[in-house]
Amino acid sequence: MIANINHVKTVLGEKRAKKKLGQNFLIDANIVGKIAREACDKDLKTIEIGPGLGALTECLLKYSLSVDAYEIDPEMYEILNHTIDDEHLKVYLQDFLDADLGIYQEKVNIAANLPYYVTTPILFKIFESDLVYDRITVMIQKEVADRILAEADTEDYGALSVETAYLFDVHKLMDVSRKAFYPEPGVDSSVVVFALKRARNRLYEESLFTLVKNCFRMRRKTLHNNLKDLFPLETIQEAYASLGFKENIRAQELTLDQFIALHDKLYER
Ligand code: SAM
Repeated sequence: MIANINHVKTVLGEKRAKKKLGQNFLIDANIVGKIAREACDKDLKTIEIGPGLGALTECLLKYSLSVDAYEIDPEMYEILNHTIDDEHLKVYLQDFLDADLGIYQEKVNIAANLPYYVTTPILFKIFESDLVYDRITVMIQKEVADRILAEADTEDYGALSVETAYLFDVHKLMDVSRKAFYPEPGVDSSVVVFALKRARNRLYEESLFTLVKNCFRMRRKTLHNNLKDLFPLETIQEAYASLGFKENIRAQELTLDQFIALHDKLYER
């Protein structure tokens, strides 16, 4: 079993985990099992980002049709090729941000214990790709999970919460203590599952998400202040009147449905 402190220390030997690549390896087999059971379907391929020493990979293979894993570090790639010998595993030595996801024509699942330094770009690459997936199950920094899952009118609520709520049913599988990793990171983590909830419409999404980002541009200012350079005063006033917004409303008070209504009104859909 790879998710084990003695195994990880032995395999690493003289080598050091690379902090700049977010290398914190899972050493808790229960957590690995839970993630894999949630993430995989026996009749689907799973794409893994950052397999590292293979703790999660080993378990994903058990519950999936096959696994394609993308690892940026040649040392990890080498170790992994020696540790797991399974015809259902294909490891790409590649930065996931450069991966061609167009090669996947069939529905997949996605699973990862994500490197924290590049969590958001990786998530956005997946969200914005044409990949057909059932769900995305990822370990991320707890603070980022809190921002994704935040409700309107709370400190953590922002563009990331609104955009993910628009596209996905999101739920937290569990919080994970920093003690489940070696070396121990400076933060706690959460495992979050994203399941697509609507058909994609790229043009509409781009327009809605640009508006949402603009609404949160200056968080402490009123929504009106964030909109006034983008739309004629009259258009904003009309939208406020028809949606019943008070004059000093702020972006963080708006629910997802109100953002959609505001967008459709401003662009008269
Ligand atoms: N999956 C292993 C586990 O759970 O023990 C390792 C997880 S570790 C948090 C993140 C892994 O992602 C490391 O192996 C690191 O080398 C790799 N990685 C970092 N940046 C990457 C990138 N841009 N593309 C692919 N892999 C990356």
